Amino acid sequence: MDEVRVKSVLNKHRKRDSWFLDDYSVNPYYGCQFSCIYCYIRGGKYARKPNELAAKINAPEVLDRQLRRRASRKEYGFIALGTSTEPYMKVERELEITRKVLSVISHYRFPVHVLTKSTLVTRDSDLLLEVAGRASLPPDLKGRVSGALVTVSMSTVDEELARFLEPGAPPPSERLEALGRLRDEGIEAGVAFIPVIPFLSDGEDELRRAIREAKDRGASYVFVGALTLPGDLKRTFLRAMERFPELIDGYRWIFKGGYPSKEYQSRLYSKTISICSEEGVRLGILGEIVP
Ligand code: SF4
Repeated sequence: MDEVRVKSVLNKHRKRDSWFLDDYSVNPYYGCQFSCIYCYIRGGKYARKPNELAAKINAPEVLDRQLRRRASRKEYGFIALGTSTEPYMKVERELEITRKVLSVISHYRFPVHVLTKSTLVTRDSDLLLEVAGRASLPPDLKGRVSGALVTVSMSTVDEELARFLEPGAPPPSERLEALGRLRDEGIEAGVAFIPVIPFLSDGEDELRRAIREAKDRGASYVFVGALTLPGDLKRTFLRAMERFPELIDGYRWIFKGGYPSKEYQSRLYSKTISICSEEGVRLGILGEIVP
């Protein structure tokens, strides 16, 4: 993997993300080895060049400088780790950039929200507990949420389907096991079933099974989100889905403009609300998701 030096690593959002609660994001790598067929970084604006992988080798030092300034002004807010790349790819085991980034976050007392499909996140449970214990939360979130959140993501709990959709990622069963370990250690963690794939993992039975499996592993919360196929991604996705020729017309109809129709989204949202309430699972970190 290439190693690059960057000038900035902390992105400040215009407003807080209403689902993941982050005001900032940090991505320690460019690109991702997990190769999910629905990934929006494939050739998108987040890659340096399509599918190019690189480690931001000086990310911890740069973040130190950027957070020192933010902390001196008390501009605390959740930092999402891994919004446009996977922060725990295999190479992280050796490079430990994400781990060093977490240390910097802990030092400056910012809260963190790790988004991952990897089981390697469990390596850093010591640091995540330290962040949780030290974090200074924004005033409106104080007492409502832990200062360290981990959201494990997957588009299905079906192992065979996951091998096709997310070929480079650990199987869903291992991701759920990692979630269970984090929960056992006292870390607030949940599952994002984002994106669920129309006709394959968005049905009532599939969603219920997925939400139950997350609950059985102690998930603090779940998310369910629709697939979106902006720009070139629609063509790439449809090509990959030729394996299911009977579904192609349906996809063309749902994703006419690249985004699922309002009807599709509101059906998915209603299904999710009823399943979560029947299963006694919190939908969203604060239990107040608005689609
Ligand atoms: S794990 Fe995330 S960043 Fe990596 S390919 Fe999959 S969707 Fe993209």
